[in-house]
Amino acid sequence: MTVSVAIVGSGPAAFYTAQALAEQMGDTVAIDIIERFPSPYGLIRFGVAPDHQTTKKVSRAFEKTAQLPQVRFFGNVEIGRDLNLDELRGLYDAVVLAVGAPFDRPIGVPGENKKGVYGSAAFVGWYNGHPDFQDLKPNLQTKAVAVVGNGNVAVDIARVLVKTPEEMADADLTDQAAAVIHAAPITDVYMIGRRGPIEAKFTNVELREMGKLDICAPIVDAAQLPETIGNLDDDRERRLKERNLATLKEFVGMASQTKPRRIHFVFYASPVEILGGDAVEGIKLERTRVVGGRAEGTGEFFTIPCGVVIPAVGYRSVAVDGAPFDAKAAVVPSQDGRVAPGVYAVGWIKRGPTGVIATNRPDGETAAEHIKADIAKGAKPGRIAFQTLLEDREVRIVTFADWKKIEAAEIARAKTPSPRRKFTSVAEMLGALG
Ligand SMILES: Cc1cc2nc3c(=O)[nH]c(=O)nc-3n(C[C@H](O)[C@H](O)[C@H](O)COP(=O)(O)OP(=O)(O)OC[C@H]3O[C@@H](n4cnc5c(N)ncnc54)[C@H](O)[C@@H]3O)c2cc1C
Repeated sequence: MTVSVAIVGSGPAAFYTAQALAEQMGDTVAIDIIERFPSPYGLIRFGVAPDHQTTKKVSRAFEKTAQLPQVRFFGNVEIGRDLNLDELRGLYDAVVLAVGAPFDRPIGVPGENKKGVYGSAAFVGWYNGHPDFQDLKPNLQTKAVAVVGNGNVAVDIARVLVKTPEEMADADLTDQAAAVIHAAPITDVYMIGRRGPIEAKFTNVELREMGKLDICAPIVDAAQLPETIGNLDDDRERRLKERNLATLKEFVGMASQTKPRRIHFVFYASPVEILGGDAVEGIKLERTRVVGGRAEGTGEFFTIPCGVVIPAVGYRSVAVDGAPFDAKAAVVPSQDGRVAPGVYAVGWIKRGPTGVIATNRPDGETAAEHIKADIAKGAKPGRIAFQTLLEDREVRIVTFADWKKIEAAEIARAKTPSPRRKFTSVAEMLGALG
């Protein structure tokens, strides 16, 4: 009998798993991808920057996977709401958890709850049309914003805040976000890193974009740049760091540019407190030095006045009811993806929130190998019983064909050259289905 596999989530980790299962097991496997939203692709839709459409094109390969004969997409079905993990385990020979890491890691300083502090998961979700974050309604009526973090997410946020409407014309920023961001009087964005340029996590393509913006100049303090990157054994890592350092040095050379907006790279600065009354008025920072790769406070403090603080220091997962959870590491603990008999984990819920889209591919391949090795033949009812249960519970299942209709409606209502005008609520997406 066919081995039935339910994959919970439809981000990159889920699709790489489905792809690997289909490749490794052919027609001896039936794969159901279960997603809480009517739209597939997880952070490709809701995380990747709206002006990085080329990156989002990876979903074309996932679309082919979704249309394989072994694969079915069950959108608008949430595990924990429509049915629980134990029920799912009763129905499928294998369950793969691919639920990602949807929440912000706090920076852990006083003042973090003030009005005007917006975590990156919420803020990025808001401008990308994630239904959970449409109530955020950030107040961006300020001249200065501090983005805490030195990774690609921080770079994305800084760039989206300072680009002009013309530069964003071919993006899929939501209408609501475009209206708020483009009406904001922001002139200065401070990107704050606890450590230095060598330790920064952003990649070079993203960094270089900061030097090519229409009305915004990158500001780098030459005194914060080391002469060389020092000794690094890993070749790939060394090349990346050398490129970043060279780019930052070029930015110093651009200091004479007079543009009305600026992105300031503030290295060696650790947040101590978010200042203000009810609302943010500034951020207090302690100068650091890097010792053995770690930031150490120097006892010297300074303040950057700003009306908004966006912590972008990482994401965190939450427990899935019925599965073990390591609260400290914020992951589902596993033996290289094996969680419990018949339960597997892939992607950010397995490894934590690091790496790019393709980093999730090996997780999927490994999970498929485990499932193939662990389950010789199917013994559980799988898809038909799952579908019957959802129908009994009156769940409105969104099929992949339904999703294509929603997508077509988003494309049809877009203003050229924007690729789509996103629906930002589940009701709107379902409404497009009539
Ligand atoms: C802001 C941001 C920008 C990024 N930009 C890039 C980039 O430009 N390039 C790049 O290569 N990488 C980028 N990444 C990294 C990339 O997005 C991740 O590596 C990848 O999305 C992680 O995949 P995942 O499948 O583990 O999680 P996710 O993509 O988060 O997918 C998890 C899916 O599970 C669903 N789900 C959760 N709980 C349930 C449930 N109970 N029932 C049903 N479904 C559920 C979610 O709705 C979601 O669709 C970015 C990440 C972020 C946060």
